[in-house]
Amino acid sequence: MAKQPMLKFISVDRDMPEKRGAEKRRQDFDEIYAEFADAKAKEQASRCSQCGVPYCQTHCPLHNNIPDWLRLTAEGRLKEAYELSQLTNTFPEICGRICPQDRLCEGNCVIEQSGHGTVTIGAVEKYITDTAWQEGWVETINPAQERAESVGIIGAGPGGLAAADVLRRAGVQVTVYDRYDRGGGLLTYGIPGFKLEKDVVMRRVEQLEKGGVTFKLNCDVGKDITFDEIRSKHNAVMIATGVYKSRDLQGPGAGANGIVRAIDYLTASNRTCFGDSVPEFESGELNAEGKRIVVVGGGDTAMDCVRTAIRQGATSVTCLYRRDRDNMPGSQREVQNAEEEGVKFEWLSAPKGFAGDPVTSVKVQKMRLGAPDATGRQSPEPIEGAEHDEPADLVIKALGFEPEDIPTLWNQKDLEVTRWGTIKAEFTSGQTAMDGVFAVGDIVRGASLVVWAIRDGRDSAAAILTYLNAAQAVAAE
Ligand SMILES: Cc1cc2nc3c(=O)[nH]c(=O)nc-3n(C[C@H](O)[C@H](O)[C@H](O)COP(=O)(O)OP(=O)(O)OC[C@H]3O[C@@H](n4cnc5c(N)ncnc54)[C@H](O)[C@@H]3O)c2cc1C
Ligand code: SF4
Repeated sequence: MAKQPMLKFISVDRDMPEKRGAEKRRQDFDEIYAEFADAKAKEQASRCSQCGVPYCQTHCPLHNNIPDWLRLTAEGRLKEAYELSQLTNTFPEICGRICPQDRLCEGNCVIEQSGHGTVTIGAVEKYITDTAWQEGWVETINPAQERAESVGIIGAGPGGLAAADVLRRAGVQVTVYDRYDRGGGLLTYGIPGFKLEKDVVMRRVEQLEKGGVTFKLNCDVGKDITFDEIRSKHNAVMIATGVYKSRDLQGPGAGANGIVRAIDYLTASNRTCFGDSVPEFESGELNAEGKRIVVVGGGDTAMDCVRTAIRQGATSVTCLYRRDRDNMPGSQREVQNAEEEGVKFEWLSAPKGFAGDPVTSVKVQKMRLGAPDATGRQSPEPIEGAEHDEPADLVIKALGFEPEDIPTLWNQKDLEVTRWGTIKAEFTSGQTAMDGVFAVGDIVRGASLVVWAIRDGRDSAAAILTYLNAAQAVAAE
């Protein structure tokens, strides 16, 4: 009988792919983790205890069949591991790189709970799919039969692209509209290359294009084309536009020059990594080089800004967050990476005002955590008299995002929204209040995660297929 390749968590320690040294990685925008070597991937996958009730899988928004593809990897059956992994996830190599695994699969892994250190699920997932790309196992979409119906998808982020993939595989004619000049949404212009290199995203966009998905880029719906026109062209429409309205800073001087929005800053940086000419970067307006940088916020966006500023050659980078380290929304792994790269964190600190125009310093108010609010989270409150000035040449606002007012912008009063401005859509199907109009991703959930956008896109695409089949059946009667 073959030797049992699994349950090695007692004899084999947890190991991550090698992380480049902080001094080296500060110099470029390349990813910071190397790839697992084949033997290492097998070894790490073999630590899985093959749980009867796999908590990794239950806590994955896509319910990826993690234990089975770990076993196949440990057995050296990589092609089968890839085939199984891509059944539930449209972009496993992207999730392997940027999912907050410490809060999802790995954080709930049984051997992590028992103190042995989680199986490094994300790194193995990335390894399997990167190998599949190298070996040519990732095939061009080739539907068995073409369908006459078409679907218009507004937004080429992970939600829209995941839906495009499912619909196109079913033979539907798919057009994706996006106001940017490249597909990928925040994968392309929000998330920096040191977390997700851009060719990883671009090859997925190309795969969809080769498979017959039409991209209409530089096309801002509501300006270059109306929503009604899109609706009239297609049998169903999906809204996957994400959330882009930045929350603002308050206090005296908050409107000064040199105080910029995180999305503008990151987009400019990502564009320069593509080799694009970016006037706001070249003029210095959105470039941290030689400047003292203060970033306000404690989420993923703030972490991406501080680490981008380091790579652009800032003289100092300080992050202000009004709660403490344990209560920040961003990933702890990213804070550690940022600290290694030279970012200074000022916890329990909020900006009270700004001096100079252009800005020269931030008045920092020290905070403490007070009584818990309705959600049980302790609210930060100011400590009277505890303030200081933090010098700054560039202040980046990373306080989160809200939805744009789509019903007004697109003149669609029947498109219902929640009190937060997100589009009201049915759980799972994404069906909105308008017939044949579906919505997915951040525009429904509010700022969330890539993996949830993928899940929504896939589920809603399945619901659209049901909708198209029903319409076809009625037409045939
Ligand atoms: C800086 C940053 C870092 C992040 N890091 C992570 C991370 O590490 N891990 C993680 O899981 N999540 C992360 N997220 C969150 C994640 O990127 C989003 O949850 C996810 O991209 C949402 O996908 P989406 O398809 O709903 O929208 P998006 O990715 O935002 O895509 C929406 C697309 O719609 C287009 N669009 C909008 N309006 C129009 C219009 N009127 N006409 C035409 N096109 C339009 C936009 O141009 C965009 O391409 C991060 C977010 C940010 C901002
Ligand atoms: S919870 Fe951990 S040990 Fe259990 S099946 Fe998932 S990866 Fe393997």
